[in-house]
Amino acid sequence: MSNTMYIARSLDEKLREKGENGGAVTSILKCALKTKQIDGVITVKAKNNDRFSGIPVLVTEPDDLDDTAGSLHCSIPNTVRFLKEYLDGGLSKKLAFVGKPCDIRAIIELQKRYQIETDGLILIGLNCTGTISPATAREMYQKEFKVSPNDVIREDIDDGKLTITLKNGKTVSKDIAALEKKGLGRRDNCQRCEINIPIFADIACGKWGTESEEKPSTFIEVYSAKGQSLVELAISNGYIETDKPSSESIKLRQEKDTTEIDRALAKRAEDFDPIMAMSYSERLAFWVKEFEKCIKCYGCRDACPICYCEDCLLEANRHFLEAGVIPPNALFPLTRLAHVGDSCVNCGQCQDACPMELPLSLLFSLQNARLSEVFGYTSGTDIEQGPPLNTAMVEEMQIDDVFLDVSTLTKKLKK
Ligand SMILES: Cc1cc2nc3c(=O)[nH]c(=O)nc-3n(C[C@H](O)[C@H](O)[C@H](O)COP(=O)(O)OP(=O)(O)OC[C@H]3O[C@@H](n4cnc5c(N)ncnc54)[C@H](O)[C@@H]3O)c2cc1C
Ligand code: SF4
Ligand code: SF4
Ligand code: SF4
Repeated sequence: MSNTMYIARSLDEKLREKGENGGAVTSILKCALKTKQIDGVITVKAKNNDRFSGIPVLVTEPDDLDDTAGSLHCSIPNTVRFLKEYLDGGLSKKLAFVGKPCDIRAIIELQKRYQIETDGLILIGLNCTGTISPATAREMYQKEFKVSPNDVIREDIDDGKLTITLKNGKTVSKDIAALEKKGLGRRDNCQRCEINIPIFADIACGKWGTESEEKPSTFIEVYSAKGQSLVELAISNGYIETDKPSSESIKLRQEKDTTEIDRALAKRAEDFDPIMAMSYSERLAFWVKEFEKCIKCYGCRDACPICYCEDCLLEANRHFLEAGVIPPNALFPLTRLAHVGDSCVNCGQCQDACPMELPLSLLFSLQNARLSEVFGYTSGTDIEQGPPLNTAMVEEMQIDDVFLDVSTLTKKLKK
């Protein structure tokens, strides 16, 4: 059976204005909170109205959601870590989590490890083709767009262009590939990201497919019964109005997705191929040279949503890392690689956190791409699929053969 799809917009005039594409997402969440279907919403908000400083928030009062409407393209709040560390993984609460595909994938990887509540959590996915780091955005707006960053009120990344809207209503567009050649534009991991529509969430919401609508609207595709009842509740309680998308809208959305996937795959090849063309010793030397820049600040470990051990092997003097020694033993990055390489969701949080600018997302996504090929495993897209390396170790202890069917192993692990 095909999934239900809607073209939706808020029936609240203020939210239609403030929301990114008609405010349907905020209105659906508001309805769910008001009708007590959920206890809270985890989403992001511009701190002190600064769009370059988005922070994760837990909203429990329906009207407080108004401040969260709109898309922050130049902030990368670590909402997954926020949920896991500060909200006890959402245990014993009914929460809705709003996130980009990489955020939703990280949630699913943690759910497999029993670190985040599964049944009570509703995943509201946003389509995404990229985020820009706040520092890069500020520099780019000043140097390339010749505008004050504080005058920018909106970004759109579409058809190979970055278009910004200014407070005075003017728009300026630039070719995004040209900006990225200069080291500006989207974060490195986003340029290589090929998962734009979070089809593994309960609903996926985005602007693609709404281009011909008269009023700003969001295209919603529903993937679960939880998602379906959330949208139906918002319709029946008068929070949103919806139309059925035309076949042209559906086709356009698909075409945009395909174009962006192709762009990302080309970028992957451009970044991965030169490294894979190296001999083993050249490749090792390449990475060791990078590792030598490490100052052991633990930023990458602490930011990575997938790193979850309470008692981490990498703590100084605990195992193989001596306190006060910089750079640390190469086992520091290699241990992280072994622990999360199979489940890396290419979110780029490690690289954003690294003060020494190591190309960590390149290392992890390259390793992840190789492992994905071997195990037929795409991290964070199917809760039933066990993480292959973790699963392999457990499975190897149980069987004589090395044959692994990762699609069935999570179920075995749960027993
Ligand atoms: C970084 C980014 C890139 C996007 N790129 C695309 C795209 O290429 N194609 C496409 O079809 N759609 C894209 N979208 C989705 C689109 O911008 C809208 O979010 C969607 O259409 C819903 O619009 P709305 O008016 O119903 O949402 P609103 O009512 O405005 O609600 C938006 C919700 O998203 C949350 N949010 C805002 N910024 C972030 C963020 N950085 N991380 C996590 N949550 C956030 C808000 O807090 C709010 O809860 C992107 C969204 C983001 C955040
Ligand atoms: S990696 Fe970048 S492009 Fe991909 S979902 Fe995350 S923020 Fe969006
Ligand atoms: S290793 Fe880096 S890119 Fe991969 S999940 Fe962790 S923080 Fe994200
Ligand atoms: S964030 Fe960078 S400098 Fe800090 S520990 Fe990780 S790799 Fe080293």
